[in-house]
Amino acid sequence: ASSAMVTGKMTGLKIAGSLGLYEGEIPEEWEEKETILKSKPGPLMQTKKPREEEGIMPIFHCRQEVPCNPCVTACPEGAIKTERDEITGLPYIIDVTMCKGCLNCVFVCPGLATTRVDFRKDEKQPIVTLPYEIWREKVEVGEKVAVTDVDGAILGYYPVEKVLSSQKKYPGTLLVQVRVEKDVAKEAVGIWVQEEQVEPSLIYEKELPPDEAIICRCERITAGEVRSAIREGVRDINQLKAITRAGMGACGSKTCRPMIWRLFEEEGIDLTEVTDRTDRPLYVEVPLGILAGVRGGGEG
Ligand code: SF4
Ligand code: SF4
Repeated sequence: ASSAMVTGKMTGLKIAGSLGLYEGEIPEEWEEKETILKSKPGPLMQTKKPREEEGIMPIFHCRQEVPCNPCVTACPEGAIKTERDEITGLPYIIDVTMCKGCLNCVFVCPGLATTRVDFRKDEKQPIVTLPYEIWREKVEVGEKVAVTDVDGAILGYYPVEKVLSSQKKYPGTLLVQVRVEKDVAKEAVGIWVQEEQVEPSLIYEKELPPDEAIICRCERITAGEVRSAIREGVRDINQLKAITRAGMGACGSKTCRPMIWRLFEEEGIDLTEVTDRTDRPLYVEVPLGILAGVRGGGEG
């Protein structure tokens, strides 16, 4: 989506130029940004974690270079950078003493890849803060939850000490705090609230997703947002996408599409009245010359 926005801005300037309404050049940095945003994800890498075992600090578990850096801009202390200062570089903390523990970087990470470890009260049993988004009502203080590493392996079972949310700024994300051994603290990434595998469609048959359940994971759109658009009269999934952004993400609506149909059904809408979305495949611009087999592509 970000790449499409930059390409759209550039095309807009070109059109303005062709109409004699703009005389300047397309800014070079836009072209560079477009190239970066269109680049393929890099290989999986090992993350470097801070060595300190005191104080408070974020731990970044993202392992693949993709154009993403909201953690950098969300930090009020300017404590986070990405490698080579590039949007595709993996994030790191410049100096752990700069971190004041505000949790912005944990809330904002779209990949749920950032945690915060707090050694201040107990260096042997630090508190880890883990982001969590699905079936949020199942997370209760005092409940024991399985804490997992980045590969989903269970590191141990720990009672939930606190659940935090920021309804205004980050309504889709809960932060779950557990006290763990220090060896586990920097490895912990997520929790399982339900260990036994259950056929997802069976749960869905029985329970309606609550309003705060994320329906579109790419754009973080909740069931409540989709429901209210339906209640306001939206009967076209393309319009729903334009209004709420549900289905606008990189997965091309693979996950949310059946759920959106289901929400229409639950709202008592006759499905024959609903217009399905127009699929728009992800694209990379290809010069005609490449298709024609002309070397270098651009000449064709
Ligand atoms: S917790 Fe807050 S202060 Fe610390 S690194 Fe994250 S955003 Fe910055
Ligand atoms: S926001 Fe999350 S996924 Fe993006 S660079 Fe920061 S830690 Fe990685």
